[in-house]
Amino acid sequence: RRRCGAPRRLAPLSKMSAAEQIDVGIVGGGLSGLVAARKLFASGLAAGSVVVFEQQETLGGRIRRETVDVDLASGESVRVPLEVGCPSFHARQDKLVALARELHLDLVETSEDQGRIVVDVGERVRECSAKAFHAGLDRAEALDLRRAAADIEALCEVVEQGAPQLSPKAEYLDSISAAEWMRQRLRTEYVKTLVEAAVQAAFATTSATISMLHFVTLIQAHGGLEELLHYGRTHPEQQIAGGMSEIIRGLAAEVAEVGGDKAIRFGHSVTRIELLKSEGSASQDVTHISLAEGLARKAGVSGRGVAIFGKDGRGQAFQVVAKYVIIAASPTRVERQMTFTPAVSANRQELMRRCFTGFVHVAIVLYETAFWAERGLSGGVLSDCAHGPVSSVRSQVCETGEQKLHALVCYMNAEHGRASSMLDSSRRRRLVLEQLQKWFGEKALDAVGYVDMSRDSYGGAGYVGLFPTGVLAEHGHARSRPNMHGRLHWAGTEASDVSQGLLDGAIHAAEAAARRVALVLEGSSIAHSAPRGWKKKDWKLERPNEGTGTEKTRLRIVGLAGVLIGLLLSLYAASILYVEVTKAMRFKSMNIGDEEFLVASQQCGSGDVYAEIAQREAL
Ligand SMILES: Cc1cc2nc3c(=O)[nH]c(=O)nc-3n(C[C@H](O)[C@H](O)[C@H](O)COP(=O)(O)OP(=O)(O)OC[C@H]3O[C@@H](n4cnc5c(N)ncnc54)[C@H](O)[C@@H]3O)c2cc1C
Repeated sequence: RRRCGAPRRLAPLSKMSAAEQIDVGIVGGGLSGLVAARKLFASGLAAGSVVVFEQQETLGGRIRRETVDVDLASGESVRVPLEVGCPSFHARQDKLVALARELHLDLVETSEDQGRIVVDVGERVRECSAKAFHAGLDRAEALDLRRAAADIEALCEVVEQGAPQLSPKAEYLDSISAAEWMRQRLRTEYVKTLVEAAVQAAFATTSATISMLHFVTLIQAHGGLEELLHYGRTHPEQQIAGGMSEIIRGLAAEVAEVGGDKAIRFGHSVTRIELLKSEGSASQDVTHISLAEGLARKAGVSGRGVAIFGKDGRGQAFQVVAKYVIIAASPTRVERQMTFTPAVSANRQELMRRCFTGFVHVAIVLYETAFWAERGLSGGVLSDCAHGPVSSVRSQVCETGEQKLHALVCYMNAEHGRASSMLDSSRRRRLVLEQLQKWFGEKALDAVGYVDMSRDSYGGAGYVGLFPTGVLAEHGHARSRPNMHGRLHWAGTEASDVSQGLLDGAIHAAEAAARRVALVLEGSSIAHSAPRGWKKKDWKLERPNEGTGTEKTRLRIVGLAGVLIGLLLSLYAASILYVEVTKAMRFKSMNIGDEEFLVASQQCGSGDVYAEIAQREAL
């Protein structure tokens, strides 16, 4: 396994090809990377100054569309676009809704809230609507569920989503897993199984693997335990008309329009980021200098910045010199694929090393009709996987020309997903169809199409990066804090202060990173608005003109003046200290008590107390 801080590679200058020079390099062409690029162009950066590097041949990351061939019962064959990544979203994700509007995309409500969902947990199959989720629960279970929701809500109030490590209970909450908390708080077996099933459906891992502190922030992002469990929903589930990938298409079109056709580089995998040395390095030995410095010289870069190294789709190495870099990829991917010179902070390394994703294997089953709606069902399922690998199901409508197909998207998560992914695909298909038959009846077997997506389809990113116990309280502050002297910024949903793990989080983190970079590129002074929990030195970024001769002289004069003032102040403080110490020593040598001193000082008024006492002692 490669480490984050690899030793600096040396290469002869003559072998380096001239590097392209840009203002900002963005690693990752998912929602976050594209939003960051759009924001930077909107701030006034010119075409050619911002480049998005995406390692896949398609954009979108965890938002992904696949086109599959389906043979209909009529004998006709159709090509169907399927959203195989994130299929829909909760309308309370304001940033996403606003972005969709800006891109002139329509929003449509999914059928998920328009019928009952099937809850197959604890050997009981219940069909409940969002409004009557408690249907089928006995009194003790209903009470237990309400109490759990209230307890989590109370925790959500004391834990700050953007800086959970600062909460008064941070250390304790980070020392126990979500499972441990549930063991302590939940009383009925049914509710324990229900909440565990919801956790596995939402995060693709067991509650035993997630720190309670992180769990609270994830619940905050979802808007409460009720929202996670699909009940008490205050906002409907929505999707973009034409599929979630339309938002990626819209963003990519805008970025390419403003930034030119080279603004997005497909199949470009970034493997290394190296901080450039300042102009001072020009005096070094020119036969063996670091690759980054060599590139900077070849590109004629005199200021500071970073060199971005990687491989393109044909396996050819590429290098680009940028003033700033924004990494908009999941921490697990970064840790596995990228190295940094100098190494990123120890806290950031630890955060990336211990971040993990759950396991998700998706199977999409296509039907010509939404037959489940005839029974008043939405197509949604939550299951504890007692009788099969499917943890949850969501319905989706796929339109292709005149043809409208209905899909049941089956998520096989955590251990059950892992076990089923080892099976032969025809056996897995049989298991999935058997479960659908149990929930939706015989018609579930009349599928017209079946698509099997492995976890690697999302680049191993799962749904979201998660943290086990003992990470967030200690290293959480490094989540979005820049590295490499402010040259390296973090975006991606995992770096977000709000809605972490969700689409809104990806947008939020991208906007924050792009805003910071745009500000320093403009040369604005932003040193006074450091976000909560950040050290000022991380926030006080270098300005682009830093490193020029005039700026350096100015800095030296200011520094010298500071040192002189400091010296004078310490001299003054030392003289006061000297006087006080001598007085105290005289006082001590006279060996008088507090009371005697008080009497003497009252008698002599503002005169010299010591002289007065000495005079008395002499008498
Ligand atoms: C099945 C599924 C269902 C989901 N359901 C929901 C939902 O209902 N609601 C919701 O809000 N969210 C949901 N999500 C989560 C949501 O999709 C993500 O939060 C969001 O898409 C993350 O976007 P991102 O840009 O931060 O990261 P990503 O989408 O992971 O994008 C990162 C990109 O960086 C690229 N990359 C990584 N490393 C490199 C490298 N070294 N060089 C170049 N490129 C690199 C990757 O290929 C990828 O394209 C779901 C996710 C999945 C997978």
